[in-house]
Amino acid sequence: VAEFDLIERIRARAGRRDDVVLGIGDDAALLQVPAGMQLVVAMDTLNAGVHFPPGTAPAEIGWKALAVNLSDLAAMAATPAWCTLSLSLPHADAAWVDAFLDGFLALADAHRIALVGGDTTRGPLSVCVTVHGFVEPGRALRRDGARLGDDVWVSGTLGDAAGALAQWRGDEAGRSVASTAVDATRAADTGALPTPHDAILRSRLDRPTPRVALGAALAGLAHACIDVSDGLLADLAHVARASGVAIEIDLAALPVSDALRGAFLSERLHTLQATGGDDYELCFTAAPAQAARVELAALECDVQVTRIGRVIKGVGTHAFDAAGNAWHPPRSGWVHFA
Ligand code: ADP
Ligand code: MG
Repeated sequence: VAEFDLIERIRARAGRRDDVVLGIGDDAALLQVPAGMQLVVAMDTLNAGVHFPPGTAPAEIGWKALAVNLSDLAAMAATPAWCTLSLSLPHADAAWVDAFLDGFLALADAHRIALVGGDTTRGPLSVCVTVHGFVEPGRALRRDGARLGDDVWVSGTLGDAAGALAQWRGDEAGRSVASTAVDATRAADTGALPTPHDAILRSRLDRPTPRVALGAALAGLAHACIDVSDGLLADLAHVARASGVAIEIDLAALPVSDALRGAFLSERLHTLQATGGDDYELCFTAAPAQAARVELAALECDVQVTRIGRVIKGVGTHAFDAAGNAWHPPRSGWVHFA
């Protein structure tokens, strides 16, 4: 198949919206922003081997490529509307594109987002998505809004995706999970208990849930917000720097899933949760007086939220263990080109 056949397959399945005056097929899309709203734009790329393990199914890549972008809009309290998709593919593989669209469009349709354009080229597998959304002027949640005395909150649970990646790496290193003897070695080496490839953890890595409804519900309530992509401490450091404050985190308060607790030794949990990344949960600050309203907003969005720390005077991000001792991570989060 040629590039045009692939584009036609994409066009045939792309969602529709009334505010898309002209979608896929012309030199550019024509889009109608609602009167009085600000346009919010984000872009994220997924490269094979960097952002997902080689061999990840195309449907999972499609889902995740859109999910990580929606997570950025969620962190701004924006309501998503449109997206564009740049696909770089080693071969014009129609079956691969169809499967990719299964994942990508499942999430797009769930959020009523229209795919309005893109680019299709030959090259190493890489997926670049932009998302466009709307927010009322003045209501976007920014990194520079944290105030002294704020509580720090996080949605969902942390560390699941990093746990899945650690399990996958354990296998890549050739550690068989078939024999208990080998599993014991693995547990000693990596802190992983002998539970191979936990499916719940893996689905959190491959199909993160962008907290779009929660982000929108936090507008006018939270002071600052960021989505946890590189690792909790690394991402919170951006909030601290932008806001001119310091942030304290209680490691014992970090929300942990049963799946993660069941798969890793407790010493390992702190590192996975505080530095692992790929969580796509929202981390935000709000005045303590707003705690009940934050809980209610989360309840209405059917998302768990947990208070994990506070905003104080100073610089940087500081983590403390259950005994109140300062804790220093092996690394605070993912850094490209490091
Ligand atoms: P041009 O040469 O003018 O850039 P293209 O052949 O790249 O045109 O694209 C033709 C149309 O198909 C455009 O509307 C473009 O936005 C759309 N398109 C191309 N690739 C994709 C894709 N991967 N996803 C969605 N739309 C795409
Ligand atoms: Mg083009």
